[in-house]
Amino acid sequence: MTLRLGVRGKLFVVSVSMALAVVFLSGLYLEGQLVAWAQARAQVELEGHAGLVRVLLERELEAADGRAPIDLDTLADRAAAPIDARVTIIDADGQVRGDSEFSVEGLSTLDSHADRPEVVSALRDGQGSAQRTSASLTTEMLYVALSFAEGQREGVVRVARPLREVDAAVRRLWIAFAVAGVFAAAGAVLLSGLASHYLSRTLRGLVQDARRMVETGEKSRFATPSHDEIGGIAGSLNRMAEELEGAVATLAAERGRFEAVLESMDEGVIAVDQRQQLTMVNRAALALLSLSTEHAGPTLAERIPIPTLHELVAHALAGNPERREFETLTDPPRQILAYASPLRNRQGAVVVMHDVTEIRRLERIRRDFVANVSHELRTPVSIIRLNAETLLDGALERPEVARKFLEAQMRNADRLAALVSDLLEISRIEAGTYEIHVDFIPVAPIVLRIVESVQQIAAEKQQRITCEVPPDLSAWADPQALEHVLLNLVDNAVKYTPPGGQIQVRVRAEDERVRIEVEDNGPGIEPRHRARIFERFYRVDRGRSREVGGTGLGLAIVKHLAEAMDGGVGVGPATPQGSIFWVVLGAPGD
Ligand code: ADP
Repeated sequence: MTLRLGVRGKLFVVSVSMALAVVFLSGLYLEGQLVAWAQARAQVELEGHAGLVRVLLERELEAADGRAPIDLDTLADRAAAPIDARVTIIDADGQVRGDSEFSVEGLSTLDSHADRPEVVSALRDGQGSAQRTSASLTTEMLYVALSFAEGQREGVVRVARPLREVDAAVRRLWIAFAVAGVFAAAGAVLLSGLASHYLSRTLRGLVQDARRMVETGEKSRFATPSHDEIGGIAGSLNRMAEELEGAVATLAAERGRFEAVLESMDEGVIAVDQRQQLTMVNRAALALLSLSTEHAGPTLAERIPIPTLHELVAHALAGNPERREFETLTDPPRQILAYASPLRNRQGAVVVMHDVTEIRRLERIRRDFVANVSHELRTPVSIIRLNAETLLDGALERPEVARKFLEAQMRNADRLAALVSDLLEISRIEAGTYEIHVDFIPVAPIVLRIVESVQQIAAEKQQRITCEVPPDLSAWADPQALEHVLLNLVDNAVKYTPPGGQIQVRVRAEDERVRIEVEDNGPGIEPRHRARIFERFYRVDRGRSREVGGTGLGLAIVKHLAEAMDGGVGVGPATPQGSIFWVVLGAPGD
């Protein structure tokens, strides 16, 4: 089991062990010193004692002068008493002659001391000492031996003292150190407690500051409580926080710019990772594909089930950028041109999508227009040519038919001229070279003039044209364009309404706008044609249109001009029969 210690625990263990180690090591050192000092002192003391004993012995020997035998054992006892040491008197041959620790009888049991190191040294050098366990007393002893020579007697005086005292001193020393150790450990515990309290309080402060910064997202700083390491850490953390904030702000700004660019793009952009999971869909892409952000399913296939798009993305992920067109699943479907390319880091692909529905529609209209124009032009041209051929083939010599052919030529030449003129007009409007200056102009004079201009033709068809227009009503319009629009509408009404029909032109104010209506009681227009008759060359009845000299471009021109004046046009049914064409002229800034 591993023991996990906190900062406090570590501090505690380290300081207590340091204190104990210091106490122990100093104990060891002092023990050595004490033992050496005590032994040196004991040796010096014993040397002194041995010297005195030797003097005493020599004096006794001298006094006796060899006449009477001296009781060396008693001498040893006497000498030992005041110095509190063991005194041994040994002959030069090692025989113990007196010993304060043994009685005279006991001496005989002692072996020869000639081999004792201190005795050997003393006999050889005059002095010797040794420390060992006494063979006789079995305790650790310090021996000091001095040689003596008096008369014929030679030998060694040996003084010995047990080293117990030194041991006792050492024991006391260790007891003192044990007490010191306890105090040191207690002090260390106290100090480490205080230090760890201070440390943990300041660290806790740092942790709390950090937690608050993370939770609240506040841009505050760590308090720097002191100038020590903790203060240093707080300072470093503050610098780090500042740098982080800077980096995060730069990243956020980058991201913001990137998102702003993506979101303001009209092109749809989607990004996928290598597993075809969507990683980004911009606003335009959501709109193009009619997706909501809540759409479930993280993969492309789940969110946008368009096979062409999946193939495109798969090729891009395989490293082949491609361009393809597909239809959306929306109603109505939109035509999308998509370009997919692999990301530079090969971690996915990005698809840029353009809505080309309008472009494709315009292309189709242009194609149809060119085909229609060619067709429309070809018909009168071939009629003129056919009639010319007939005339050249001999009809010219027959004046009664020649006139008919020439008249047909004339009619088709007029038709061609009308067509070319309408085509020029429409292309001028589209190219923007038809200048329109919208002004606040009185409507009544223009309306009356137009009605007046068709009165003659209407009268020939026994048609009645009525006109209701408030005399002082003004509208925002270009006079020439308005005249053109009204002429086309009234002319159509006259053309398509059978003889005896009725045509009404009405003008009225409608909110800020002015509404002009041209109503007839002719054949009317079926609802399915109504939306399309403003297209170029769209005709309900081609033969009828040609018969009345129509080009199929009149209403297209009307629509263009009305829109150029910020107005609008439309058609609805009249009751009980006929059509109502209307033009609304807008207020400026509508
Ligand atoms: P056109 O030159 O053939 O008249 P327009 O663009 O003016 O071409 O009109 C388009 C078609 O709309 C006509 O061919 C005709 O079929 C239909 N139309 C226009 N005005 C009327 C109307 N007042 N009543 C019935 N049909 C009309």
